[in-house]
Amino acid sequence: MSSSTVITGITTLVTNDPSVGDRSPLGLIRDAALVIEGDRVVWTGEAGTAPATDNRVDAGGRTVIPGFVDSHSHLVFAGDRTEEFNARMSGRSYTAGGIRTTVAATRAAGDAELEANLVRHLAEALRQGTTTFETKSGYGLTVEDEARALRIAARHTDEVTFLGAHIVSPEYADDPAAYVDLVTGPMLDACAPHARWIDVFCEKGAFDGDQARAILTAGRARGLHPRIHANQLGHGPGVQLAVELDAASADHCTHLTDADVDALASGRTVATLLPGAEFSTRAEWPDARRLLDAGATVALSTDCNPGSSYTSSMPFCIALAVRDMGMTPDEALWSATAGGAAALRRTDVGRLAPGARADLALLDAPSHVHLAYRPGVPLVTGVWRRGTREV
Ligand SMILES: [Zn+2]
Repeated sequence: MSSSTVITGITTLVTNDPSVGDRSPLGLIRDAALVIEGDRVVWTGEAGTAPATDNRVDAGGRTVIPGFVDSHSHLVFAGDRTEEFNARMSGRSYTAGGIRTTVAATRAAGDAELEANLVRHLAEALRQGTTTFETKSGYGLTVEDEARALRIAARHTDEVTFLGAHIVSPEYADDPAAYVDLVTGPMLDACAPHARWIDVFCEKGAFDGDQARAILTAGRARGLHPRIHANQLGHGPGVQLAVELDAASADHCTHLTDADVDALASGRTVATLLPGAEFSTRAEWPDARRLLDAGATVALSTDCNPGSSYTSSMPFCIALAVRDMGMTPDEALWSATAGGAAALRRTDVGRLAPGARADLALLDAPSHVHLAYRPGVPLVTGVWRRGTREV
């Protein structure tokens, strides 16, 4: 039998289990304890009623939250785009190739370099409390390079997404239809065995609604489930397509019509907001309040990538969402944990209830509100993943 550990001395425990504690969506328990056995949570409640266990950890009056579920990142890449960011923030024009710059650097990198870069970013995210992450291909754009990215990602997470349709590969600039044929044919054949999800950047300058539908439908026929980059830079068909195809998530959702909001509120598709992208490109914020008031499920994620959102910090995204997107601190934390789990169609992570995975973060703060109240401060002082303390 695996040994049991009680974490006690918790001033505020966020469970995301509305059947306990204050019965809010966060299921807050004050002066709480939590028991881990093996890789699972087996008990939560008031500290005074905790069962006997083999081991004991004193949280010293800190807060415990579910580990963050970062449901959108692009971490298999090489190179960086410091100059592009610097030019954008300095008001200078910059004409180098954006995503294409990263594609060239990624193709030129060896497997070991790509994997080491991924591992470094994952360790960085873990230190900030992220215990589940999704990551994508999309900087290879050849059959070989896309499959390679997915093989490397799959060594580190179950949530792997095939994004051959990130942009039209430079070699196919004059014949996008042929690139869509490649993505839905030989590239999909090579990539499907290594991925759970298929994604497409449905936006002017990338793929239109018909192309996106063809790509996602082909992926679904190969057992991959859809998710979509939708409505980031302007209005478009992405959100409606996501709901129509029962995509797990429509990501970005910055430019929405009332019909888009209604579609998200009525379907199962989660609206994943990525405020790091708006921050890093000085763009208009997505309106989380509008989505929440309509009844949509909202997730928060980093979109960590070297071009448009080079942050791995979920606490930073929470602070932006509270400050600039109309979310309450409670809503933002829920969206960064349970919301991310919903965007990955997972029920074993993003909450701390009996049976859930023992993935949790210890905050050096009396409550989770400090994540937004103290932006930029490294409050995460402990992280358990699958029942093991890793930070
Ligand atoms: Zn993205």
